[in-house]
Amino acid sequence: MTDTTEVTELTRRLVAVPTVDADESAAQAVVAPLLERAGFTVRSHEHAPGRATLIAEWRTDLEAPPLCLSGHLDTVPLGAAPWQHDPYAGEPDGDRLHGRGTSDMKGGVAAMVLAAVRATAHRPRRAGLRLVLTAAEETGALGAHHVAPLLRGGCSGPLLIAEPTANQVVHGHKGALWLQARTTGITAHGSMPHLGDNAAYKLAHAVVRLADFAFPDTAHPVMGRPTLNVGTLSAGLNPNSVPDLATATVDVRTVAGQDHTEVLALLADRAGPEVDWEPLVDLPPVWTDPADEWARALGEIVTAVAPGIPYEPRTATFFTDAAVLAPALGAPPALICGPGEPSQAHATDEWCSIRRLEESLAIYERVVASWCGL
Ligand SMILES: [Zn+2]
Repeated sequence: MTDTTEVTELTRRLVAVPTVDADESAAQAVVAPLLERAGFTVRSHEHAPGRATLIAEWRTDLEAPPLCLSGHLDTVPLGAAPWQHDPYAGEPDGDRLHGRGTSDMKGGVAAMVLAAVRATAHRPRRAGLRLVLTAAEETGALGAHHVAPLLRGGCSGPLLIAEPTANQVVHGHKGALWLQARTTGITAHGSMPHLGDNAAYKLAHAVVRLADFAFPDTAHPVMGRPTLNVGTLSAGLNPNSVPDLATATVDVRTVAGQDHTEVLALLADRAGPEVDWEPLVDLPPVWTDPADEWARALGEIVTAVAPGIPYEPRTATFFTDAAVLAPALGAPPALICGPGEPSQAHATDEWCSIRRLEESLAIYERVVASWCGL
């Protein structure tokens, strides 16, 4: 039987350590001793002071590659609106556990850690297990990027990410390609513009061309169409000078099957030769076919543990560490399934359903037992 209080208690202990764009190492100090005592080899990799990503491995000499469970330990800030509940107390209120990070995603991390610890009470007959608890996911998957080279080259089993899905199986998410577009010119006095070369005009023409850009790719059956948005535009220092520099930022959301290098080449062609491009964020789309054997196995486990949750192809609106970790691990099947409520991610008075927390522990225990052969 699943212990119904342990996962709530571990979530509360993680929530009590603020990790707002900082201090993931302090949150790791809560879970690392549990994993070490259970026999995991635990390594901590800092990309900045106090900002470590933890890799814990339950190694075996079995032939099948290890299952990889992953979640992030940072949270977003509290926001300007006042909270009714102490954001770091983890106060229960009926079925709701309140606090920053309960849904996104310390609840999911707590359930994964407990499932991993409990697995070690058994002898695996098929494969080992790896946990990757990342730092700085919310600010561009920096922790995942930092450890990606360490994960590369090895063989990996499936990747499961505990981002908030209310325990539904989510098969992927769009990619994010954020770009800076830049044009240059020659400055001159604003009363003599014919002596200059106006960078703003060049960029403005390019942006208008991008507004009409149509992706040649067909829509993805679940993710829909790729999108493009020009988010910022700036040029010039004052009214009476010809600007010699203009910049814009462009947010492209790609769907499975699109290659970011090809997308950038198409945009550059459309915008014209006067625009220079620099990628700011480059996270590829993630997609695992719902008919994939392991995806179906996870769907069956979820339906068995939580009968109200149907198995159907789903995509997330947010992006995850899977965009970085899955390519590093050699592109195994990658799925998202976590106890948090998607609507509560980044919200004031964030909460997580205690019932979903308990369900997720049972789901992860079964997933681990099934892959590792317990
Ligand atoms: Zn998250």
